[in-house]
Amino acid sequence: MNNKLYGNLIFELSQPGRKGYSLPRNRFGNYEVPQELRRKEEADLPECDEMTVVRHYTNLSANNFGVDNGFYPLGSCTMKYNPKINEEMASLPQFQNLHPLQPAETTRGAEAVCTLLCKALCELTGLHAFTLKPFAGAHGELTGLMVIKRYHESRGDMARKLVIVPDSAHGTNPASAAVCGLEVIEVKSLADGTVDLEDLCRLCSESGDAIAAMMMTNPNTLGLFERQIPAIEKLIHDCGGLMYYDGANLNPMLGAARPGDMGFDVMHINLHKTFSTPHGGGGPGAGPVGVRKGLEQFFPEVSPYHGNFAVAIRAYAYILSLGREHIKEVGPLATLNANYIKEALKDVYELPIDGLCKHEFVFDGLKDKSTGVTTMDVAKRLLDYGYHAPTIYFPLLFHESLMIEPTENESKETIDGFISVMRRIAEDAKADPELVKSAPHNTPIGRVDDVLAAKHPVVTWRQMKENV
Ligand SMILES: *Cc1c(COP(=O)(O)O)cnc(C)c1O
Repeated sequence: MNNKLYGNLIFELSQPGRKGYSLPRNRFGNYEVPQELRRKEEADLPECDEMTVVRHYTNLSANNFGVDNGFYPLGSCTMKYNPKINEEMASLPQFQNLHPLQPAETTRGAEAVCTLLCKALCELTGLHAFTLKPFAGAHGELTGLMVIKRYHESRGDMARKLVIVPDSAHGTNPASAAVCGLEVIEVKSLADGTVDLEDLCRLCSESGDAIAAMMMTNPNTLGLFERQIPAIEKLIHDCGGLMYYDGANLNPMLGAARPGDMGFDVMHINLHKTFSTPHGGGGPGAGPVGVRKGLEQFFPEVSPYHGNFAVAIRAYAYILSLGREHIKEVGPLATLNANYIKEALKDVYELPIDGLCKHEFVFDGLKDKSTGVTTMDVAKRLLDYGYHAPTIYFPLLFHESLMIEPTENESKETIDGFISVMRRIAEDAKADPELVKSAPHNTPIGRVDDVLAAKHPVVTWRQMKENV
């Protein structure tokens, strides 16, 4: 790529007086912008011709990695299957041009999508009612905890302020509890990665009257199925608390088991993970919340109208296109793919918890620690081979966590390709550790200083100029 012509910043391509637009004829009459709202100085905008703008952004977009470019083994928060038909459905003008305030008799179809999606989610989860209002998984957690809080308050049970969260939980769990004004207590994990029932017993006997809820992810963030759910559910319910299910990654459960049947009272689902909708950079998402019968009157108003409607359309299209029969294959296939990779790599990567996993699993770095090559280095080296990095340094249970989720829709050849690259990196680490430690070498930008970028982010052109 010619860097003079396609500079990194549109500002660097600017030529004074150059124009790349023509405004359409004004069809709306004249409107004078009030004096006090007018800009005092000229906006410092880049001035470029049309083709320069088009090429600049097209070239930038080619630096993006997405599920349409390559394999994306990001554990936990991965994008699962995003069929293009769902995009087509969400962009139908009859849906896209709706306004939430238009007369109800003109929006019956959209309402039907919402109602039928909620019905399908009830069927898939074994719960009684869903709200589509939350905009993300974390927003769903907050909504669900608000339901739980209001339920306890409705019974005059005001002292219930504690939320039990396993130490393997996604960081949003304790954060949502705190935002909801509740207090988090951690329950330990056993060496096998599942909840320590003895520690939970202790918490329940010490502070049973104060327990509002227990939040669980199942399969948990290590990809392990919590086999003690009946005992856990009984302990918490006997204390008077409710069971919350983090269903952000529901794909391993589809067709296999239902949170409602396991005794959970409230849950959220990330439509943008399990039920298509490509997401990134913080959106768009939807975190519908489902509840057991008798809790639906406690749904709070957490957003206006119907949440992220376009995400709901994609989810409904996904469910319809798989249908009752094929949606049952999602969980087993996700599980098969994850176990296939785990078994093919566990002789060169450290597998701290062996055994059957569900949709994902966690390595604790390379098996051979003598090379000094870390999980970070492996992740960076994967970029050189054209793969998205897995989730790294999460969960916090291990020092060198490398969390891999292949998803249900990848071919055996794709997965074999990933396995051979991961093995090659393990060989590189032995033969030439520096090569791996200084990766990536083939990307537009080399290794960045994460800490500096997080603590002193330079996100504007002007600041960057001053800093240079
Ligand atoms: C992604 C994820 C969340 C949070 O969802 P957001 O939409 O990112 O807010 C919560 N729990 C688990 C297990 C997740 O993987």
